This record gives sequence, structure tokens and C-alpha cells, in this order.
Amino acid sequence: GLRTYATSKNDQPVAKFLGTKNSNGNYTVTFIEGDGIGPEISRSVKEIFSAAKVPIEWETVDVTPILKDGKTAIPDAAIQSVKKNYVALKGPLATPIGKGHVSLNLTLRRTFNLFANVRPCRSVPGYKTPYDNVDTVLIRENTEGEYSGIEHEVVDGVVQSIKLITRKASERVLRFGFQYAESIGKQHVRVVHKATIMKMSDGLFVSTARDVAKDFPQIEFDTELLDNTCLKMVTDPKVYQPMVLVMPNLYGDIVSDMCAGLIGGLGLTPSANIGDECSIFEAVHGSAPDIAGKDLANPTALLLSSMMMLQHMGLGAHADKITKAIMDTLAEGKSITGDLGGNATNSQYAQAIIAKL
Ligand code: NAD
Repeated sequence: GLRTYATSKNDQPVAKFLGTKNSNGNYTVTFIEGDGIGPEISRSVKEIFSAAKVPIEWETVDVTPILKDGKTAIPDAAIQSVKKNYVALKGPLATPIGKGHVSLNLTLRRTFNLFANVRPCRSVPGYKTPYDNVDTVLIRENTEGEYSGIEHEVVDGVVQSIKLITRKASERVLRFGFQYAESIGKQHVRVVHKATIMKMSDGLFVSTARDVAKDFPQIEFDTELLDNTCLKMVTDPKVYQPMVLVMPNLYGDIVSDMCAGLIGGLGLTPSANIGDECSIFEAVHGSAPDIAGKDLANPTALLLSSMMMLQHMGLGAHADKITKAIMDTLAEGKSITGDLGGNATNSQYAQAIIAKL
């Protein structure tokens, strides 16, 4: 049930949370509110946490990019805050298309070596969609692949973009995938790839997966071609219920948005960026500039990301209580946001959740 959105079953996180309580008996958590709809959905999360008396204090930091040695960088105060607290909740950060600064999202992932991106996607009970049995968990390699950032113009009109796959990063995310599957009680790991075409790069990902699978004989392992996965996901998503899907970076990015579409859209899907020390929790969606500043955005995705964060921190009881209030509010359908067909504002929806705590 509710644990689908958890980082682990029984509050035993796969990646250990290293934070300690401050002198007030609370954990301090870094909050990056982000761009576009970021500040408004962040406000809802903060209000709900405060009404639910969650024992954490937010340390809100600014990540407006600075120039350091001619390169875009994240302000040092923000970096130090995440390092100190080991955990951050993050709103969406906009990235200029084509030109301009590099993605701060990528920079954060690289800075803290957030090697695995966990993206659960589950039907909301009571909210009608073509399928009512979607329950997928996708783990995306988060540091390389097509996102290596290595691109150059060979000659005028010819551009080369390097897809980088290493055994080291592949093994790390795959091992995490198997451990994660065990921790949430799924008995099957499936690796999604396109090694028929990218024989060497995806081939390395798949052969590494076969090696790692030997260390987890109790978990069923197989592979599937990406196009096949897409077809089956939109025709019979329940096939994927017993599994954790692990895939290279770009595929994970795209397939997870497709999964979001099956349950009601990007307003509902959370994620966790897991590293060895620090972890950053954020919605799958971006800054939604088309609806920003109008109090129309759905804060559920960021809220469910914060629930994954609470599970990771060992505060599972708080997560369960808030998750129940969220799910009850969505199922009731009286105070839901426009993306789900309702007419409540972000603030009204947050108040409806608070009333159910
Ligand atoms: P987007 O996810 O921001 O929006 C896509 C569509 O979904 C829009 O119609 C938007 O209104 C809707 N939507 C998204 N979140 C919603 C919510 N919470 N409630 C209701 N509707 C919601 O994608 P985009 O428009 O392609 O990207 C906008 C910016 O966000 C870009 O600069 C992009 O780089 C950035 N981005 C950031 C992240 C991140 O911070 N992790 C992720 C994706 C995109």
C-alpha cells in the first residue's frame, strides 16, 4: 500500500541516512524551493509538515547559479548545507534550452554523486484513469549515459554527442536496484535497454546486470528492449507490478514521464536521488512555467517526494499519516487541482489535506 512510495519497507533504508538531530531534537533538512511553480508548491509542503508536527527544521537555501572559474556553479552555502544535513528536498530548477548555463539539476547530481534516481508511480485509489492498477518502480542511472554533457561540433552541420556508459556506474545503480527491490518486497528486477542497436554501451549495462544478478539468486532477473517496455506499459501496465525496472539515464527519464501519464500526470509522481552520503528528493516534473505564479499547480508530486524523504530518514510513521491524508483528499475528489480535473487551488488542496491530518 502506502509503502510503494517509501524508500524502503519497515523504515530500513537501502542507503543509510547519516543525519543527526539538532539541539531542539529535530532534524535539519535543506530546502531548495526552485523556479516557476517551485516556491508555491514548497509553501504547501511546509504548511502540511508544520500542521503534522514533523520533527524537522527547514534550512532554505538559494541555488541561483554563480560563475566559478568561468563555469556555472551552485553557491557554496547551498552545497555546504546539503553536505551538513545529508538530505534535501528540492523544487524544480529551470534549464535554458540549447544555450545558456548547464543544468543545475545535473550539477547537483554530479556534486553529490546521486547515482540512483528512484521513481515510483502508483495509481491513486479513487482517481479514475484508463488503468487502476499501475504500480511501477523505475530506477534510473543518474550520472552518465546521454547526460554525460560531452557534445561538440565535428564540422559545420555535424554534431556529436557522447553517450557514456561505465561498468562502475552501471554496477553501482544495478546493485542498488536489486537491494531496493528486496527492501520493498519485489522479487523481480528487469533491466530495460537497447543493446540490439547500442551493442557496446547498452551491452555493457546488460552484461554488468547479469554479473550483479548472480549475487542476488533469490531475485528473478531478466531484460527487455525499451520499445517493447513502452508498448506493454501503455497496454497492460500491471505486468510491471511485481518488478523493479532499472535502466540507463535517458530511458529512465522518458519512461517515467510515460508512467506518470498512466496515473494522472506529472502532478503526482515523486522521486528520490540517492547517493552514498547525501540524498535529494524532488518531483519528476519541471518548473511548469505555463502555470507558475497562479497557485494552480498540484503539490502532490513534491509532497510524495517529501514522504520518500521521511521514510529515508526513519520517520516512516509521519510519512504514513500524511500520505493517508493526501490519498484520502485525492480519493474524495472535492478539493483537487486542475490537472486532475478539479477546481481547487494549490493552497485549497493543501488546506484540505491539513484538515484530514
Ligand atoms: P514541466 O514538467 O515543467 O511541465 C510539463 C507540463 O506538465 C506542463 O504543462 C505543466 O503545466 C504540467 N505540470 C508539471 N508539473 C505540474 C504540477 N505540479 N501541477 C500541475 N501541472 C504540472 O516540463 P517542461 O515544461 O518541459 O519544463 C519546464 C522547465 O523545467 C525546463 O526549464 C526544464 O528544464 C525544467 N525541468 C526541471 C526538472 C527538475 O528540476 N528536476 C525536471 C524536468 C524539467
